[in-house]
Amino acid sequence: MEDRDLLSSIKKGLSEVFPWSTCSVSMETLPIPKKAYNAFRRQYLSTILLQSIGEYAARSLDNKAFNKILGVTEVDLYALGLNFIFGEAQLQGKAAIISLYRLRPEFYGEPPNRNLLVERAVKEAVHEIGHTLGLRHCPASSCVMHFSLHIGMTDRKGRDFCRICRLRIDRFAKQYG
Ligand code: ZN
Ligand code: ZN
Repeated sequence: MEDRDLLSSIKKGLSEVFPWSTCSVSMETLPIPKKAYNAFRRQYLSTILLQSIGEYAARSLDNKAFNKILGVTEVDLYALGLNFIFGEAQLQGKAAIISLYRLRPEFYGEPPNRNLLVERAVKEAVHEIGHTLGLRHCPASSCVMHFSLHIGMTDRKGRDFCRICRLRIDRFAKQYG
């Protein structure tokens, strides 16, 4: 994804939710592995893209527990057993990915809305980074770690962690930060 302005907005949102971290936008764009494309579904298998981000992370990051890479893609992602996904991450890993495809209001026949797109992308980005920090899905519907089955659920939840998830994150930060 090469919309640097949008990537900067996502970065700003991440920095607000993870104030103890530093976040930067990479100048690099990874090619989308051809084998990820499913012509019948006209979608991309998320796991394969995630794998390539993981390999990129292994090449470019040192071994600090808090170094994560979030891929941002425009293509429509799916996972086995699911019609689509907004994103995926390695649990306690280094790699995560989000797709903007179904975060754009245009996908739902609505007019483009940059702020709404950024807000949705930040929520999904925080959610996936949360997984890389070891968090699983949270039953609280307002918590960013709540699983979004559809865009309405993304819009309903906040961009931040509930008290319990935040405690878990802070514990992790103390341990490795
Ligand atoms: Zn999730
Ligand atoms: Zn929570």
